[in-house]
Amino acid sequence: MLTFDDGTVQVQAAESGGPQMAATVYEFGPDLTLRGARMTDSFWEWHRRLEQEGRIAHSAELCPERQGLEIQHWTRLTGWTSARIPVR
Ligand SMILES: [Zn+2]
Repeated sequence: MLTFDDGTVQVQAAESGGPQMAATVYEFGPDLTLRGARMTDSFWEWHRRLEQEGRIAHSAELCPERQGLEIQHWTRLTGWTSARIPVR
């Protein structure tokens, strides 16, 4: 987890193991609301490798994850709900 001077917080979630770890980076505002997410460069390298191995049927350029990520979040009022967050 990384905290910046403006209060922004970034959390990396690993998507693969290995030295070139593919990760999704989630960005939170100072009030800890989720602002958005992005994939690391190594995520896209990993994606292309899976494409070449035939394990992913779409190209990195056309990846549906570029359109946003579905996340689950919980509040006392609503319980679990899913939301779509923008990916940059
Ligand atoms: Zn994809």
